[in-house]
Amino acid sequence: MRNMKYEITRDYINIGNSRSGQSIQDVQFIVSHDTGNPGSSAYGNRNYFENTNPSSSAHTFIDDKYILEIIPLDEKAWHVRYNVSTDNRRYGVNANDAAIAVELCYGGNISFEDAYNRYVWYHAYLVDKFNLNPDENIVGHSTLDPSRRTDPQNALNRHGVSWNDFLNDVDNAYRKYFEGEENLPEPVVGGASVELPIGKGDRGEFVRDIQKDLIKAGYSLPNYGADAIFGSETERAVMRFQRDYHLAVDGLVGQQTLGQLKEVTNSSKASNDFPLPNGILQKGDEGAEVKQVQRALKRLNFDPRYIDGIYGSLTEDAVSRFQSMFSALENDGIYGPNTKRFMEMELEDL
Ligand SMILES: [Zn+2]
Repeated sequence: MRNMKYEITRDYINIGNSRSGQSIQDVQFIVSHDTGNPGSSAYGNRNYFENTNPSSSAHTFIDDKYILEIIPLDEKAWHVRYNVSTDNRRYGVNANDAAIAVELCYGGNISFEDAYNRYVWYHAYLVDKFNLNPDENIVGHSTLDPSRRTDPQNALNRHGVSWNDFLNDVDNAYRKYFEGEENLPEPVVGGASVELPIGKGDRGEFVRDIQKDLIKAGYSLPNYGADAIFGSETERAVMRFQRDYHLAVDGLVGQQTLGQLKEVTNSSKASNDFPLPNGILQKGDEGAEVKQVQRALKRLNFDPRYIDGIYGSLTEDAVSRFQSMFSALENDGIYGPNTKRFMEMELEDL
């Protein structure tokens, strides 16, 4: 039984120094890393490896929004020095030749809890996928290269998680999500299409984002937290927020409340991670620029389903759904300068 609690985004970088294209014959273990760069997001790292193309890499970067595979799992990544010997002693093979490298993004605006839960689940997913033993086949980069590396313990420890806690959590996640040891409720699937206003009874990732923003803005949700379910507690927090900012106090998150909330919590500069192309793109277009638009749409929760560089019906629909949020935009599903400007504003506000 495989429970895909989280979505995995596969958005591979091009072949080059970072991605050799050499195949892994047999995946035998997982090397757990952290990025060592607080605040850098999964897509921020992807952009770095794609654009700077250093002779190092990892398969997967995980933050509070994405489990992002940038190198296919049947290809090698360059994440442990070849001349360290711990991997050879422990597993009889060099890590680069037989291991999947998983990087935890942390710090800055990244919610550790959300990133960590994804990191744990993804390790369990790999354990299941490659028939590994969670107690023996997961190793920290610091264990393989102790003279130079402290990851991922550095990131884990600063949030009160020990290496053993982490292994236990992976073990539990594996049993829970992949061996079906507990009766699980249906996972809440993130709302791909969002219709405003959002109110009591709604649920999904968009609700969770609103809840996180409320908490960030100082409107605590003491009993339920950011649980992705819009209940009475969330409604009351929205009403307090609306009262404080002189909005209509109806407990519904519509355009104005959402805009105000984003303004108050405006902090990260997500637009840097998702540069948008100039010009006009529409159905039938293909290429890297279409991919940029698809990535940004996904980041904005207007999921085009595939980041494949093909402007098909799903992308057109996602653009059109985005446009329908703003009365200033024509709802034609065509990406142009006006849509770009609004997408940039929304990315800035994340
Ligand atoms: Zn590392």
